[in-house]
Amino acid sequence: MITLKSRREIERMRVAGGLVAQAHQLARSLIAPGVTTAEIDAALEQLFAQHSAIPLFKGFPGEVPFPAVTCISVNEAIVHGIPGTYRLQPGDIVSIDTGCKVNGWCGDAAWTYPVGVVDDEKQRLMAAGERILEVAIQALGTEKRWSGVARQMMREARSAGFSLVEQFVGHGIGQEMHEPPQVPNYTSASVKGEDFELRPGLVLAIEPMVNAGVPDIRILADHWTAVTADGRPSVHFEHTVALTNQGPEILTAGVGK
Ligand code: MG
Repeated sequence: MITLKSRREIERMRVAGGLVAQAHQLARSLIAPGVTTAEIDAALEQLFAQHSAIPLFKGFPGEVPFPAVTCISVNEAIVHGIPGTYRLQPGDIVSIDTGCKVNGWCGDAAWTYPVGVVDDEKQRLMAAGERILEVAIQALGTEKRWSGVARQMMREARSAGFSLVEQFVGHGIGQEMHEPPQVPNYTSASVKGEDFELRPGLVLAIEPMVNAGVPDIRILADHWTAVTADGRPSVHFEHTVALTNQGPEILTAGVGK
């Protein structure tokens, strides 16, 4: 069941969202050639601990529990990359996805950052990913149903010449990180049944994943890392967004800025 959030609950979610934004600013400040993805994860884990925030990703159930507070996905990795010994290199793009719970309420956001100077295709891909998220947030205030938003996201991706990943979707968010509804970045006959009405009080994690090439994915032997099937790069942009009577409000504002 979709639970609508009150004004007061949304304000509490803004606190969690603010800390997620702070975590992103910290990650961004650390991204540099030679830095390992585990070092970035450790810094974010410490930040959450300092604020007595519960990291939402560490221990997330799967075939093996997710081992880190941050998903760090480099280049052809789409989402769910495990931080480790990999050292960032100039020309990489690095997607950081993290979430935390503060006083019982959750925030979740992802952003793709360049390491030094990246090639033209990666630049265009990052710009398109950011734009698709912007289009979705704006459309949240004008469309009647989610399928209308997803249609606008698809149109934007197509006009940029890139593809949206369909295997992973966004989600409702509140006292739990993953709440109903599922928030797909596409529409098709098969998801019609899961469409939902856009009403004030909805809080959604909207998270387009955009591939330079084909939308298909595969999962690495670590059970988590999703990579593009064709090895071409991918980006991931996500905000936690509340739909209020005044329109859409980004609760993770500051991420990527
Ligand atoms: Mg999410």
